[in-house]
Amino acid sequence: MLNKIVIANRGEIALRILRACKELGIRTVAVHSTADRDLMHVRLADESVCIGPPPPAQSYLSIPAIVSAAEITDAEAIHPGYGFLAENADFAEQVEKSGFIFIGPRPNSIRQMGDKISAIQAMKQLGIPCVPGGNDPIGMDEEESIRQAREIGYPIIIKAAGGGGGRGMRVFHTESHLLNAIAMTRAEAKAAFNNDKVYMEKYLQTPRHIEIQVLGDGQGNAIHLGERDCSTQRRHQKIIEEAPAPGITPEQRQAIGERCAQACRDMKYRGAGTFEFLYENKEFYFIEMNTRIQVEHPITEMITGIDLVKEQLRIADGQKLDLNQSDIKIHGHAIECRINAEDPRTFTPSPGTISHFHAPGGPGIRIDSHIYSSYKVPPYYDSLIAKIIAFGDNREMALARMRNALDETVIEGIKTNIPLHQLILRSSEFQRGSTNIHFLEQMLNI
Ligand code: ADP
Repeated sequence: MLNKIVIANRGEIALRILRACKELGIRTVAVHSTADRDLMHVRLADESVCIGPPPPAQSYLSIPAIVSAAEITDAEAIHPGYGFLAENADFAEQVEKSGFIFIGPRPNSIRQMGDKISAIQAMKQLGIPCVPGGNDPIGMDEEESIRQAREIGYPIIIKAAGGGGGRGMRVFHTESHLLNAIAMTRAEAKAAFNNDKVYMEKYLQTPRHIEIQVLGDGQGNAIHLGERDCSTQRRHQKIIEEAPAPGITPEQRQAIGERCAQACRDMKYRGAGTFEFLYENKEFYFIEMNTRIQVEHPITEMITGIDLVKEQLRIADGQKLDLNQSDIKIHGHAIECRINAEDPRTFTPSPGTISHFHAPGGPGIRIDSHIYSSYKVPPYYDSLIAKIIAFGDNREMALARMRNALDETVIEGIKTNIPLHQLILRSSEFQRGSTNIHFLEQMLNI
């Protein structure tokens, strides 16, 4: 097994990775900015290295700083977590060139999936169903854009090939808005992602967001671990996820899951990954692949009993996947609420000192969080401070446990979105299940 790894991230995911390492007897190096000296995993890691000042560009996004930390601590591998450099192919390449193991897919897989157009092209070849459109970048040729749009049919969504985090997308309903929408999305994409490549695809009106978790060992073995429903979103960002997705039959799961697993075998995909789909009228349409561990991975762990981070570490160690598809049995139901340090009504970030924290508990409750009483939430990073995961034998039990857990949680000193989660969990529409991607914004009337 790997000897020592650098955890190139912060917050709850850094702690999650540290816990998996400890279970496997892997030594850990925490790297942190000057704002993060007091992070839980920094205290618990075997070693820690300060890699720079608070702005991510000078710390968590600094490739030389992270690679040097691995060099000076004599680590063997680097786990990027999610966000920051996790899907940066240049980083993965640099890590490997410097003689370290990158705990994730090969750089060329990251590069291919990081460009949404090349990802869609690859998926089409591998037999994965995609949203109509999306084959080519939209060029300067206005006639050609109009022709493509007519072929796809309105409404249409223009998306940045290098986009992420729910940004770089624009919907329009008529041809008169087409050229303007292209120009605006391009300019935004250039500013946000330094890449003005955009493409268009059919805008599905009432889809659900359903994704398939996969694991591949890079040696041609791959499995899927079922699906997650991540339709509860605001501004295309997930807030609540659940697994399995309400209403998806075992046959549907097997059919789409096996297609994804087969695609991974064909690509000799290495590591954990997620195929994201929109689901409408009983059909799946691929939108993108994430080549990393995702925020919502715990719900899959709860219903399968598989520790995905430990699997990532074993794969990075060069071990063959020792799980067969038939080993993956789905039991029960799990829900995750993302607890953010933000105003539950205006969604403005609410950094500051947590004067008091009391975590919920009881059967079926898992908390992935780095916070503690007196911890200061810095203003520089993502506002996610905790993930509450509720498991039950069925969806009703998982929902009941989640409601209890939200009511039990005490976080004082800063604002959190717990009141929003309480509202959602008590809404009859959410309780019925199978809500689409517009549910939350409609509920909030925004
Ligand atoms: P990102 O990489 O920014 O997360 P995605 O391509 O994964 O972007 O899309 C994020 C969300 O945007 C989806 O979950 C869905 O809500 C919405 N979306 C994306 N593509 C479409 C589409 N073709 N039709 C309708 N909604 C879409």
